[in-house]
Amino acid sequence: MKTTRKTGRSQKQTKPGIVILATGGTIAGVSRFGAQAGYISAEMGIDVMIDAVPEMRTLADIRGEQIAQVGSQDMSFAIMIRLVNRINDILASGEADGIVVTHGTDTMEETAFFLNLTVKSRNSVVMTGAMRPSSAISADGPLNLYNAVAVAADPDAAGRGVLVVMNDRIHGAHSLTKTNTTSVETFLSPVNGLIGTVNYGKTTYFRKPFRRHTHKSEFSVAGRTSLPRVDIIYACADMPADLITCSIESGAKGIVIAGDGNGNMNAAALETASRAAEQGIFIVRSSRVPTGTVGRNIEVDDDRLRFIASDELNPAKARILLMLALMKKRKLPDVQKLFYSY
Ligand code: ASP
Repeated sequence: MKTTRKTGRSQKQTKPGIVILATGGTIAGVSRFGAQAGYISAEMGIDVMIDAVPEMRTLADIRGEQIAQVGSQDMSFAIMIRLVNRINDILASGEADGIVVTHGTDTMEETAFFLNLTVKSRNSVVMTGAMRPSSAISADGPLNLYNAVAVAADPDAAGRGVLVVMNDRIHGAHSLTKTNTTSVETFLSPVNGLIGTVNYGKTTYFRKPFRRHTHKSEFSVAGRTSLPRVDIIYACADMPADLITCSIESGAKGIVIAGDGNGNMNAAALETASRAAEQGIFIVRSSRVPTGTVGRNIEVDDDRLRFIASDELNPAKARILLMLALMKKRKLPDVQKLFYSY
């Protein structure tokens, strides 16, 4: 493994060093036939995945490590913390120039956002996955992996926060979301748009991330094994408000409401949530709608009810930010500011 760092690399020097950290997912999945929808995810080890795409070795010196082997529906904060600690160690020691993380697509946006807030480096951290298992006809994993390595090895990718490369698109961790259960074009960045594109390894960038991330983030999970509990409650017509009470009784320190429309909920839920907020539970209004922002004091009087508006974050990402925020004692306006900054 070459240890040359990006900043010091000259034309003549060796290829960048990239470590691929594997966590499982459909990219490591296997089906019995190439044309069947059913498969088992997280079956293949990282060395087999690397050997399947030998072209990557023209881009970088590559080495793999297996961090976990799960479908991302089973991704946990314990694994995420292990993952970010390993990324921070590798990048701090100069063991590699960039990192690629292979991951299932179901909770990819959550891990991407978590890493975006807890990685302590400007170097590239690029996530990728696949919608089709490795044995499927037209499996998308090999090209996604090749493109992810190309982006991680590209000096221009550094400083753009954690990136997700899928289906030739480069998404920012803050903005991407999964929008389709089966299509290879599942990830979109509906509010802020793409960071760029990558075509057989050729990168084009459109923008930098607008929010704080990685080396500029104030959050660190070093030395931690768990995070404060935050629940998500999905709003709907005639929503039962006792879900909020139940969540607090089960130990939640914060609740994200996946509200309807602009973060709305019915009168019963508003009343229960505001009583909880009065007792020091942090209530964030996000939205179950896939795109748009949730603003303060639109139909809900956030100032009076002591609520926080999620701004651009969907419920899953709002939960991650609130969990990290609640690692230390904070005042309500300060938590609201975090939602405008990250
Ligand atoms: N359930 C799988 C996972 O998230 C789906 C995928 O990877 O596309 O691991």
